[in-house]
Amino acid sequence: IISFLVLYGSYNCFSQTKVKVSNTDKKVEELVKKMTLEEKVGQMAQITIDVITKGKDRFSSFEPVELDPKIMDDVFNKYKIGSILNTANNRARTPQVWYSLISKIQEVGKGRLNIPVIYGIDAIHGTTYTAGATFFPQQIGQAASRNLDLIKRGAQITAYETRASGIPWNFSPVLDLGPDPRFPRIWETYGEDPYLTSEIGKVMVKGYEGDNNDISSPYHVAACLKHFLGYQVAASGKDRTPAYISDQALREYHVPAFKAAIDAGAHTIMINSGLINGIPVHSSYKILTQLLRKELGFKGVVVTDWGDIENLHTRDHVAATNKEAVMMAINAGIDMSMIAYQYEPFCNDLIALVKEGKVKQSRIDEAVTRILTLKYDLGLFKTPVTNYKDYPKFGSKEFENAAYETAAESITLLKNDNNILPLSKKMKLLVTGPNANSMRTLDGGWSYSWQGEKVEEFASKYNTIYKALQNKVGVQNVDFIPGVSYKMDGKYFEEYEDQMDNAIAAAKDADAVILCLGENSYTETPGNLSDLYLSDLQTEFAKKIAAIGKKVILVLNEGRPRIISKFENLIPGIIDIYLPGNFGADALADIIFGDVNPSGKLPFNYPRYPNSLINYDHKPSESRSEVVGVYNYDADYNPQYEFGYGLSYTNFEYSNLKLSAKDINANDVLRVSVDIKNTGDREGKEVVDLYLSDLVASITPDVRRLKGFQKIDLKPGESRTLTFNLDKRSFAFVNADGKSVVEPGDFEVSISNLKSKFSIK
Ligand code: BGC
Repeated sequence: IISFLVLYGSYNCFSQTKVKVSNTDKKVEELVKKMTLEEKVGQMAQITIDVITKGKDRFSSFEPVELDPKIMDDVFNKYKIGSILNTANNRARTPQVWYSLISKIQEVGKGRLNIPVIYGIDAIHGTTYTAGATFFPQQIGQAASRNLDLIKRGAQITAYETRASGIPWNFSPVLDLGPDPRFPRIWETYGEDPYLTSEIGKVMVKGYEGDNNDISSPYHVAACLKHFLGYQVAASGKDRTPAYISDQALREYHVPAFKAAIDAGAHTIMINSGLINGIPVHSSYKILTQLLRKELGFKGVVVTDWGDIENLHTRDHVAATNKEAVMMAINAGIDMSMIAYQYEPFCNDLIALVKEGKVKQSRIDEAVTRILTLKYDLGLFKTPVTNYKDYPKFGSKEFENAAYETAAESITLLKNDNNILPLSKKMKLLVTGPNANSMRTLDGGWSYSWQGEKVEEFASKYNTIYKALQNKVGVQNVDFIPGVSYKMDGKYFEEYEDQMDNAIAAAKDADAVILCLGENSYTETPGNLSDLYLSDLQTEFAKKIAAIGKKVILVLNEGRPRIISKFENLIPGIIDIYLPGNFGADALADIIFGDVNPSGKLPFNYPRYPNSLINYDHKPSESRSEVVGVYNYDADYNPQYEFGYGLSYTNFEYSNLKLSAKDINANDVLRVSVDIKNTGDREGKEVVDLYLSDLVASITPDVRRLKGFQKIDLKPGESRTLTFNLDKRSFAFVNADGKSVVEPGDFEVSISNLKSKFSIK
C-alpha cells in the first residue's frame, strides 16, 4: 500500500488570507519605528482590570467602578501596558458601565503615541459579562443543534452585543476536541468529532469577524481560537494536567479545527495551558512557530492563557526563574502575555533579555507589529471605544428569539418508550430535582461571572424549568419540590436532601413527573471530578421516583454526560438539554408538550460505564464487531447513546443510497446521494450524517468518521434527495510521517443504516 501512496500535501502549503494589508502595514511599520523598547514590551503585556481599580469589593455592584489614577499611571505611563482582560471575580456590568470604564482606560492608556488599549473578554455563549445581553446554549448544546446558520447567527449577535459593551476582542471559540467526558471543560467544546468542530469553527469565525473578516466594522469582534492545541485530552481527565499525544494523533484529530478556522481568517489564538508529551505548550517552538506559523500559516496574534509564562517556572519547572520562562515563551512564539498581576517583572525581565541579546529585537518587533495590526484592523485607532447608544438591538426580542431557536434545536431526545412524550397539557405535573428551578444550572459557567454563581440575580426575568412548565399548563397544574438541592457555597458538587419524602409523596398525586437532574454550574479547574456517575443522592432519588410507577421524564441538565446506567432502564422518557442558556427552559417546555419537535443530536458518545469511555470513531479492536481477531479482542464498546443519536416525534425513512462511481482516483469527487422521507404525521427536522470508513490503511483506520452532515426540515409525507460531495479531504488521513495522504483501497460510505462501498485506485 505504502508504495502507492498518493500524497496530496502536508500542512505546509496553507497560507492564511490576509485581510487588509498595505495601508495598515505602512502605518504600523512607521509606528513601530517610533517606539522605545519599553513601549514595545508594554504592548506585549495584558493585565486584569482589577489591577487598576480601587477597593476590595470593587466589582460587586453595577455602580461605575473606580479606577485608581495612581496605579493607572504606573501601568500605562510607566509600563505602557497595551491590553486588559476581565478577571475571575468580575461580574456582569451594564453596557453603560462598560462604556464609561473603557473610555477612561483609553484616555489614560493611549500614552504619547496614541496607541489604544485592547480589552479582551470571554463572551463565550453570548456576551456573558454584560447584564441584559442575549445568552445562547453553551458550545456543547450549539453543536447538538447541528444548525450552522443558527450557530453563525449566535456569533453575529454576540459580536454585536460585545461591541455594544465597548469590547472588541472575544476569547472564543473553543476549538479543542472534547473526547473525554471526565474533563471539566467538555461543555465549552463542540464535542468529540474533528469534522463537526471544524465546520462549526469556520462559521463561528465568520460570525464574529464578518464574512470578509472586516473587524473594523463596529458590529464585529476579533475571534480568539483556543486552546491551541490538545488541551482537553489530559491523561488524568483533570484540567491543566499532562497530555500524551503522538504527532500523528495531534495532526489527525486536533489540528483540523484550528486549521479550518485559521484558513477562515481568525485574527488571534490562545495557547493550551498544559503539557504535551512532557513539554509545556507555551514553551514549544515546535508547536508555536513550526506548526502554527510555518505549517498552518497563522498570521495573527498569539496570546498565552492565564499566567502561563510564570507557570513554566513555578508550576512546570522547565525554567529555573521567571525571567528564563519569559525568554522561553517569547522565543517559542508568544506575542502577548496574559500575565495577571505580574506586569512589572514581566516587562523588566523582557527588556533585560533583549538588552542581553537573549531575545532578539526582531522577535519583539514581530510581536508588536502583529498586536498593532490587530488594533488597526479593529478600528481602535479611530474608535477606541464603541458606544452602547449605537446598538439599539442589544438584548432585543429578535436576538432573544435566535437564542430560543438555538436552544430548541439543541435539545436532544434520548429515550421515548411507548411514545410517552409529548405529554398532554391536561396533566397534573410534579417538577422536581436540583435543576428544576434554577437559572444557574441552565446557563452553566461563564455566565454573568466566572463560575456562574451570580446567575439567579442577573437572570431573574427568564424562566426556570418550573416556571416554563407553569406558563404552559397553568400555575395550579404544576407542583415543585426539589427533593435534592445543590449547596450554594461555592462547592460545585455538594448536594443535600431537600424534602425528598415530600417530593415522593407529591409524585404519587401527579400524573407525570419531570425529574430534572444533572450538575451545578462550574468553570475550569473547580469542575474537576473524580466520579463520572451521576451523584449517589440524585441516583437514589431517581430510583425512588421511578418506583412510584408514574410517567417519568428525566431531564438531564449538565455540562458533561454524567453516567445514568444505574437507573436508566427505569425511566421511559429522557431528554438531554445540556446547558441551554436563558431560553432553554421555554424550549424544553415546548418540546415536552409537543409544540416543538426535537431535533438535537448528541455531539459525543454518552458513556454507560466509567471504564468504557470510548469515542464513536474508535479503532476496530475496541468494539464488538463481526470482524474479530483470532482472540476475541473487545474493549466493550457500549455507549449508553451514541454520537449522532437523537429522536424525533416523527419518523424518517432512508433509501436509495447512490454513489456516482464505484472506482475512483484520489483526485476525483465522489457524489453520494440519498433519499429521506418523513413517514410520520408531523413536521420534523432531521440531521443527515454521512460517515466514511477506510477499510484498510497503513495506520489502523477508525471504524467510521463523520465526513458530512445536513439538517433538513420535512413535512409529513415529504421526501428529499440529498447530495454530498466527497473529495480527497474526506478520503485522506495523517500517516505515520505526519503527512496527509490518500491510500488506494476500499472504502465504505454509510448514511443511517444504509451502506455502500467504493474503491480508490
Ligand atoms: C481560560 C481561558 C480564558 C482565560 C481568560 C483562562 O483561565 O483557560 O479559556 O479565556 O482564562 O479569562
